[in-house]
Amino acid sequence: MLADVTYPSVQLHIDGVWRDAEGRRSIPVLNPATEEEIGAVAHASRADLDEALAATTRGFDLWRKTSAYDRSKLMRRAADIVRERAGSIARLMTLEQGKPLAEARAETLAAADIIDWFAEEGRRAYGRVIPARAPGVYQLVIKEPVGPVAAFTPWNFPLNQVVRKLCGALAAGCSIIVKAPEETPASPAELIRAFVDAGVPAGVIGLVYGVPAEISAYLIAHPVIRKITFTGSTPVGKQLAALAGTHMKRATMELGGHSPVIVFDDADVQAAARQIAAAKFRNAGQVCVSPTRYLIQEKVYNEFVDAFVAVAKQVKVGNGLDPDTTMGPLANERRIPAMEALIADARQRGAEVATGGARIGNKGYFFEPTVVTGVTRDMRMTNEEPFGPLAMMLPFSDFDEAIAEANRLPYGLASYAFTRSAKTANAVANAVEAGMMTINHLGLSLPEVPFGGVKDSGYGSEGGSEAIEAYLNPKFVSQAGV
Ligand code: NAD
Repeated sequence: MLADVTYPSVQLHIDGVWRDAEGRRSIPVLNPATEEEIGAVAHASRADLDEALAATTRGFDLWRKTSAYDRSKLMRRAADIVRERAGSIARLMTLEQGKPLAEARAETLAAADIIDWFAEEGRRAYGRVIPARAPGVYQLVIKEPVGPVAAFTPWNFPLNQVVRKLCGALAAGCSIIVKAPEETPASPAELIRAFVDAGVPAGVIGLVYGVPAEISAYLIAHPVIRKITFTGSTPVGKQLAALAGTHMKRATMELGGHSPVIVFDDADVQAAARQIAAAKFRNAGQVCVSPTRYLIQEKVYNEFVDAFVAVAKQVKVGNGLDPDTTMGPLANERRIPAMEALIADARQRGAEVATGGARIGNKGYFFEPTVVTGVTRDMRMTNEEPFGPLAMMLPFSDFDEAIAEANRLPYGLASYAFTRSAKTANAVANAVEAGMMTINHLGLSLPEVPFGGVKDSGYGSEGGSEAIEAYLNPKFVSQAGV
């Protein structure tokens, strides 16, 4: 019975063993819907990290020699286990993160699909033969795993932020130490358990939790670690990228965004509003690719805003375990003052709140789906990533004005556009500075397509064949006959 799934004491996984931290140090885990303490998570010490580093060295030696064929088989077995356990994993995720159970289940099943895709792609990480200039010379490019990886993942998608990094590394033949989120630790631990239960050898995957800044500073600087991958905020990403640079480590940075949605006046406005409003309130807006700045051509501005507000008003906010809930609480207490401050600043500068704008109740971190109009560029919300259920509406008159606003911020992660004109679609896809653009539908995040940003949103890709390349080094071998 799913209702019987109890929240565990989440342990570290080091050298093939599930165990407590040194001295049994742990910190509490809260349910954001009730603010109750539901469990605890182990807090790794320096000694725990040293053991994880020694294990990952042995794990790498073993895993790099395991054939891509055998790695793939183990990974596919892990995907099947994740599918079998999807109900209980999703329930743990809802308890610790707050998102509706249906979203948690969808994330879990998507994780299984991601594992399968990487398992197959790893078998096709081919090198190449380059024709030589002299007879009898063979020039080969061999793809070698970069080495042990350190991965740092956030709390908004507890599983999917881990699974892309984990699978890119494993498919390429790397070992990995995952520093998963302390606020949502149980569901990612269950993901790792699926790989362990599938038979991935000891040392190949390590799992730790603790003080994020201490762990990242130690692991990134450590000579054993050859590559780092981080998902989180731009300020933290810049610190970690600087550290990676100092120690000459390869890095993938998946950071913040402030995604523009450009709705041209020839679009199917009703369909656009319905689709993009639903996307806005998924995971209570705590999504790096969440649509945030809505740029609406003047002629259809009122129609779009009315349709969008109607969808926002239908969102049912509540405990994610309640089947009627379509939006859960914010994942942690910090998000409430963050949202309130952005809205207060906008109001003070003349914006109007068309719907929402406030916390709901005083138990659980619930916040109203919020739509703000009369928004201007001097407001904090048009410059800072909201990371919550907040949509802001800005009218524009022509193409150039929309593009100028879309590209005004240092971010460049996701972008969205709606138009019936092929010419406009082509032009907007070329003009917006972003790692991803989806036009007339929501088409991001599949495992087989690139996922990543430009500018302050980071670098590297967590999807598509590029996601495996991030864990491979090309080695050139030139050989002449003797
Ligand atoms: P934060 O910047 O303190 O932390 C973001 C994430 O980075 C957390 O998972 C945290 O544990 C981790 N982190 C922080 N400092 C670290 C360090 N020195 N080394 C390694 N990991 C570290 O912010 P927060 O309050 O947790 O989240 C709010 C902001 O973070 C949001 O406004 C959003 O911009 C960003 N965020 C982005 C994503 C994403 O998917 N890109 C996910 C979660 C949070």
